[in-house]
Amino acid sequence: MFKKYDQKQQFLLPLRLERFVPENHIARILNDVIEAVDTTAIESTYSEDGSPAYHPLLMLKILLYGYMINIRSSRNIQKMTCTDTAFMYLAAMQQPDFRTICRFRASHLDSIKDIFAQVVIVCKEMGMLGAGKASIDGTKIKANASVRQSKDADALDKEINKIHKEINKILEESIEIDEEEDEKYGDSTPYQIPEELVDKNKRLAMIQAAKKKLEEQQLNKINVTDNDAKIMKHKDGTKKPSYNGQVAVDNKEQVIVAADLVDEENDVHQMDPMIQHIQAILGYKPTIVLADAGYFSYDNIELLIQEGIDAYIPDNLFEVEKRGKAKWFMKSLFRYDEEKDCYYCPAGIVMPFERIQKRPDKPDLKFYGCKFCSQCVLKNACTKSENRTVSKDPREHLLVNMRVKLKTKEGKDLYKERMYTVEPVFGQMKQNRGFREFLLRGKKKAKVEFLMMCVVHNIGKIAGALKKSGMNLNETLENGIQGVNQTGIDMKNVAMGA
Ligand code: SF4
Repeated sequence: MFKKYDQKQQFLLPLRLERFVPENHIARILNDVIEAVDTTAIESTYSEDGSPAYHPLLMLKILLYGYMINIRSSRNIQKMTCTDTAFMYLAAMQQPDFRTICRFRASHLDSIKDIFAQVVIVCKEMGMLGAGKASIDGTKIKANASVRQSKDADALDKEINKIHKEINKILEESIEIDEEEDEKYGDSTPYQIPEELVDKNKRLAMIQAAKKKLEEQQLNKINVTDNDAKIMKHKDGTKKPSYNGQVAVDNKEQVIVAADLVDEENDVHQMDPMIQHIQAILGYKPTIVLADAGYFSYDNIELLIQEGIDAYIPDNLFEVEKRGKAKWFMKSLFRYDEEKDCYYCPAGIVMPFERIQKRPDKPDLKFYGCKFCSQCVLKNACTKSENRTVSKDPREHLLVNMRVKLKTKEGKDLYKERMYTVEPVFGQMKQNRGFREFLLRGKKKAKVEFLMMCVVHNIGKIAGALKKSGMNLNETLENGIQGVNQTGIDMKNVAMGA
C-alpha cells in the first residue's frame, strides 16, 4: 500500500502561503522582523508614475534571507524564488528578475544602515542587551578581487602601454578590414567598433582610474578590480585585497550593536568611531569596553577615560610578557628613577637620559641609554645593538594601570568574556553563513553587504532568544517597535561611517 501520489492534483481549498514554511522557521522570524521595521524611507524613493514596482519589503526579505543562507548573487536569489519554498513565501510567489534584485540592492545602499539600527533597537526592547558591556573587534574579509590585480605604479604603466599597443593593433587591422569592405561594398558599410576593442578600452579606463587613485592617495599598490580594497594580512598569514569589518557586540546575547566596514588594516583608529556608532544607535555609550591589543593606543585609552568608559585592552607586549616569551628583556624590567630622570637596567647599571624625539600630535618621546652593554654578561638576553636604549612616553602610566587592571581576577574574567562574545560572531558569519568574500565591489557596496550580514546575525539572535524564552513573537515585536519610537532616535541620521 502507498499513500496517494498525484502531482496533478487540484486543491479544493486555496493554499495559505504560510504553510510553505514551518512556524518556527527562521524565514518566518525574518519576515516578521522586517514587517515590523519602518521602511518608509525606501518606499518614499519610488515614483507614483510608471508600472508598479515590486514591494520593497519583498525585495528586502528575499535579499536578507539570501544573505542568511549564503545565497547572495541576484541570479541565484531569482532562481530560489522559483524553487525554494521559504523564498516563495517571502516573495509571496512573485519572481523579480535578477536585474531588479541587483538594482534594488544598489539603489538602497543607505537604507540598510537604517534597517540595521532598527533591528538593534528591536533587540534592545526585547531585553536582549545587557548593562552596557560591549566587545569591539574587527575581521578581514576578502574583497571581490584577485591579489594578482594589486599593482604598483610601474606595473600599471606597463599594462597601460601593453593595452595601448593592443588597441593600436586592433585599430590598424580594423582600418584594413574597413578599406577592403569599402572597396567591395562602397563606403556605405556602417562602421562598427570591434568587440575586443570595447573590452580593451574598458580595461584601459579601469587601469587609468586605478593609477589616478594610486597617485592621489600616494599608495604603494592598488587593486585594479576593486581599487577601494587594501592588501591586508589575514589570520592564516595570507595577504589579500580586503576590507576590515568592525563590530561592537553586546555581551549578553551577542547582538551586534554597531558595525562598520573600513579600508584600514589596523584596528587602532576604529575605537572612537565604534563608540560613536553605538551612541548613535542606542542613544548611550557603553559603560565597559573590551577589545584586543589591536585597539591599544595611549590616545584610545585617554579617550575612553575621558568618556567615563571602563576599558580592558591589553597592549601588544602584555601577552608576550605574561607568557615569558619575550626575546629580549622587557621594558618592565627596567626601573625608572623619577628624581634622577634615569633608568636602571636589569644588571643595575644606570641609563641616563640621552635624547628627545619630537612627534606630531603626540607628546615628546624621551630616550635613555646604557653605555656598558659590551661588558655585560646579560647582553645576549638584552640587546643585539651595541648598547640598549629604552624610550619613555609621558603617558606610560596608562599602560601600567591597564596592565594592573588586566591582571586582577575581574580583569581576567572580563577579558575572557570578550573572547566568548565577539569571536563567535565572526565564526558564525564566516563558517556558518560562508561569508568569506564580498560579492560586490567598492567600499560603499561592500559595506552594504557587511551590514546585511550584521542584520541577519541579529535576526538569528532574535530567533534564538524567542526559542529560549518561548516568547510570543508578534507581541514582543510590538513592544520592540514601541521602543523604537520611544527612543526618539532619528533613524535617518544614524551614523554608520561614510
Ligand atoms: S646589556 Fe646593557 S642594558 Fe642590558 S643588562 Fe647588560 S648592561 Fe644593562
